Amino acid sequence: MNFEGRKLEYAMMRRMHVLDVKRYDGRFAIVYFKDKYVYRSIPGQYVMVWVPGCDEIPLSVSHAEGGVCAVTVKNVGEATSRLCNVGVGEQLGVRGPFGNGFRFVGVKPLIVAGGIGVAGLRLLVHKFIRKSVVPTLVVGTKTFEENIFHEEFLKLSENGLLAYYPVTEDGSLGERGLASEVAERLIFLNDFDQVYCCGPEKMLYKMFNIVSDKKFGAQFSLERYIKCAVGICGQCVLDDEGLLVCKDGPVFTKNVLRRTKDFGHFSRNASGKKFQI
Ligand SMILES: Cc1cc2nc3c(=O)[nH]c(=O)nc-3n(C[C@H](O)[C@H](O)[C@H](O)COP(=O)(O)OP(=O)(O)OC[C@H]3O[C@@H](n4cnc5c(N)ncnc54)[C@H](O)[C@@H]3O)c2cc1C
Repeated sequence: MNFEGRKLEYAMMRRMHVLDVKRYDGRFAIVYFKDKYVYRSIPGQYVMVWVPGCDEIPLSVSHAEGGVCAVTVKNVGEATSRLCNVGVGEQLGVRGPFGNGFRFVGVKPLIVAGGIGVAGLRLLVHKFIRKSVVPTLVVGTKTFEENIFHEEFLKLSENGLLAYYPVTEDGSLGERGLASEVAERLIFLNDFDQVYCCGPEKMLYKMFNIVSDKKFGAQFSLERYIKCAVGICGQCVLDDEGLLVCKDGPVFTKNVLRRTKDFGHFSRNASGKKFQI
């Protein structure tokens, strides 16, 4: 198949069977499946997962190991609830992977995750480790239970492969506080050469303000309401630059975000109407 043919194929809906599901009290789930295109995802890319009879939603590719891929889902509404309760063997649809993903740079990276944003950063953590770089990782969640990769990250840090800082708002795991507060202190004490962030936009904006005038680069993965995922519908546009989160993002550098009016201030709902974040 030629290049155009391959390009078309990855963007089309494919049937996939759920191979396994790891459930967390109906609040989160890791849904495992096989797909040759998703397996080749770059850290930070996302897929559109179709839940038949319900909706099609964007989810980061959180796992691509041993021939198996996975998405990690937080139950916030109809489609994510269906995914958190999906059965092994059930059929779903998948398109993608889409988006640019993180640019892999630096040998002293700081990775900052807020909430389910950690799903979009897990592959990046593993990519650094595979390249013999020890990344520093801050994972901020409201409670201990919401840090669903905690055991995995703890094991990596015990083996000297990761400098891991869990943070919770209620103090039930690690330091009490916000991921951005711990990240700011670590930036002051260390000599990082690149910062990677994924999480709620309020947290991203705090991180942006912390790193804005620093010498090192920073990359932020943004969430917007995504429909087509291929840059046609314009639903996920960032004013004033006209950048599309689905195709030009979801990862943007601090220099690009500095030029947008929307980042940190406005998003759009399902009908495209702007609202204040
Ligand atoms: C690039 C990207 C990567 C994401 N990765 C993950 C992930 O790895 N894990 C995860 O749990 N969530 C992820 N999300 C968020 C996830 O897409 C929404 O939580 C999901 O679409 C909610 O659907 P729902 O039907 O359960 O909820 P609804 O009740 O329909 O909506 C709940 C919330 O989700 C938002 N939402 C609904 N549909 C979409 C859509 N098509 N695009 C964007 N937001 C939507 C709504 O605006 C609302 O704020 C990601 C979003 C983006 C844009």
